[in-house]
Amino acid sequence: MVYLNGKYIEKDKAFVSVMDRGFLFGDSVYEVIPVYKGNIFCIKPHLDRLGESLKAINIPNPHTFEQWNAILQQLIDYHPQYNNQSIYLQVTRGCDTDRKHTYDKLKPTVYVQSSPFEVVRKEDFLKGVSAITRDDIRWSQCNTKVTSLLANIMYAQEAKQNNVEDVILCRDNIVTECSSSNIFIVKNGCVYTHPKGPHILPGITREVVLECANYCGINIEEVPTSKEDLFDADEVWVSSSTREVLPITKIDDVLINQGQAGELWSLVYDRFQVEKSLNV
Ligand code: PMP
Repeated sequence: MVYLNGKYIEKDKAFVSVMDRGFLFGDSVYEVIPVYKGNIFCIKPHLDRLGESLKAINIPNPHTFEQWNAILQQLIDYHPQYNNQSIYLQVTRGCDTDRKHTYDKLKPTVYVQSSPFEVVRKEDFLKGVSAITRDDIRWSQCNTKVTSLLANIMYAQEAKQNNVEDVILCRDNIVTECSSSNIFIVKNGCVYTHPKGPHILPGITREVVLECANYCGINIEEVPTSKEDLFDADEVWVSSSTREVLPITKIDDVLINQGQAGELWSLVYDRFQVEKSLNV
């Protein structure tokens, strides 16, 4: 079942108009929210970020927190067979009568779907995963979670063709984030990550990872790091709602930590699992 504009319907019966600005222009924003055993993880930060994204592109938020929560809960309850769920939520500016760049007041289109998702077990992460580096060609409002994701799609396809997990993006030799996750570089016991701002998505998992690192007594620096720092790192991690926190152990054929997940990653991963169980 999916949710579309107030109704729960079968996915193959859910349609939007060709005049929807989400279809015509990618004029819309989205969220991806993990649900562990029926409990929505970090619902408030996710809905707050949705509110920020809507505000940034001047779409009125169609629902209050309580209404969003009720919509998501009901959709989750339709899928008791899923152990964990990944909620995809999209709000478009709505449908117009003709295609034009400018817009007047429209009724936003709201679409929500749920898919099953499995958490990768720690033992399957011990060798880590690979990544490649590319120039960050995206626009300069990466902090707004818009559905215009062409650059990210091209990176994802390149990752697939290169048989790697993700693409690490560098803007003017500064490591920003990955095409679908945030990145952390560990050196001499300190974890470095790009500061929030227009060049990265303020990942909800990024915040949880920083809280976990802090809990584990690891120093944190939210400062830009260079591509050289990346290859010189003791450990590299990436985070996202569907991947949690995972170690990158090979970048452009260069091994990180001799191709093994690091000790600090292990501490943070374990703490992350505790945070998940507390956040219910
Ligand atoms: N950066 C980018 C570019 C992303 O697409 C994502 C995941 N959507 C993230 C970071 C991670 O964000 P979150 O932790 O909120 O899933």
